[in-house]
Amino acid sequence: MIDRLDAAGFTAYLAGGCVRDALLGKTPKDYDVATDATPEAICEVFGKRQTLAFGASFGVIGVLPPRSLSKNRDQPVEPTEVATFRSDGDYSDGRRPDSVHFGSAEADAQRRDFTINGLFYDPKRGQVIDFVSGQRDLDRQILRTIGDPGQRFAEDKLRMLRAVRFTTTLGFQVDQRTAMAICKSAAEIVVVSGERVGVEMRRTMVSPNVLEGLSHLSALGLSPYVLPELDQADQEQLAQLLAEKRTRTFVETLACFLFSIQRHQAGLREITRRWRLSNEEVRKVTAAIEHAPVLATANTHPWSKVQPSLVHRDAATIVAVSRVLAQSTGADPEGLRLVEQAITWPTQKLDPTPLISGGDLADLGIPSGPEYAKILQQVRDMQLDGQLQSRQDAIDWMTAHDASD
Ligand code: ATP
Ligand code: MG
Repeated sequence: MIDRLDAAGFTAYLAGGCVRDALLGKTPKDYDVATDATPEAICEVFGKRQTLAFGASFGVIGVLPPRSLSKNRDQPVEPTEVATFRSDGDYSDGRRPDSVHFGSAEADAQRRDFTINGLFYDPKRGQVIDFVSGQRDLDRQILRTIGDPGQRFAEDKLRMLRAVRFTTTLGFQVDQRTAMAICKSAAEIVVVSGERVGVEMRRTMVSPNVLEGLSHLSALGLSPYVLPELDQADQEQLAQLLAEKRTRTFVETLACFLFSIQRHQAGLREITRRWRLSNEEVRKVTAAIEHAPVLATANTHPWSKVQPSLVHRDAATIVAVSRVLAQSTGADPEGLRLVEQAITWPTQKLDPTPLISGGDLADLGIPSGPEYAKILQQVRDMQLDGQLQSRQDAIDWMTAHDASD
């Protein structure tokens, strides 16, 4: 892609996150290109069929790989963002520049948020182009704004949460002046939309370093606005819940976090509103809060109380959270052992076909009504607990039960 722009006489570099990640030895998520070609020139070089003008007014064109290069023709291909070097105009809404101007590579580096995100790489010459001392900060593992931190956060308040996200995911420290500026402007984070806050917080929460991330959030003074529950959490319990540095999904981490505060459901409702959680996320976290404590102590309950958590549609989340819960609360390992065993069972063993149905109750002359569900549940529980083995057992029990009523 860069070759094509180069052949047409333009300067083109890899830019931003992909250069940072490559220099850290990580595989970049995607590649962004910055160039001195205008959006019109980019479209001319790649042709209509290969380009998408998704942010032409901001100087960004999506360039698709040539058809012949895409490995699987049925799979949707992700366009590479090719952006014209630009400098941003004034910021009046605390989030986005009022206007953008095309400019030099250096000006384009200067408008970026942090020094480690302001690097370019010239693949033709195999050179990193660093106008902002980003390489030094990468080596020292420091997150620092480009230019005056107070001004950069005043322009775009979201950068404060991006700072937390990058320090967390990369395991870096925040430069002192940058940290002080965030502390000073933290309250202004409220101008950022819940959607954007949610995006950044999800990325912080899925990091194996989430515990450090939450302590950055608190130390930088952002938690009262973004996650006030954090400061009321039982810190020791929270540290135990999230101590293990491993990859967890967002919903798992959130459920673990909620176990460190008093009112789980109320906390979830507040976070849902503040971070704009989806219905599916809320459903999964709710299931984990309700069911994980049962699985973590499975050996202390009858099987009929444990089994529903294992056949729940969100069982994967529930089981994952119960593992963390059991380990962090020092529960009897026997509980978890039972669960680990049960999840390997074939369906017929884990969730056997019910011995009877509503139709059987009608056949027995039991009048339909609220009792129906209760009787069916009772029979189901006894089946799961091994007290009724067959359909005949169940019918015998019901007949006796009915007679005794
Ligand atoms: P990721 O790996 O999460 O994609 P990234 O660094 O690529 O990290 P993006 O949000 O994709 O992050 O942004 C791409 C680049 O655009 C950043 O590296 C940075 O140079 C610049 N950038 C993004 N958001 C901002 C912002 N709010 N203010 C200034 N520059 C930004
Ligand atoms: Mg990116």
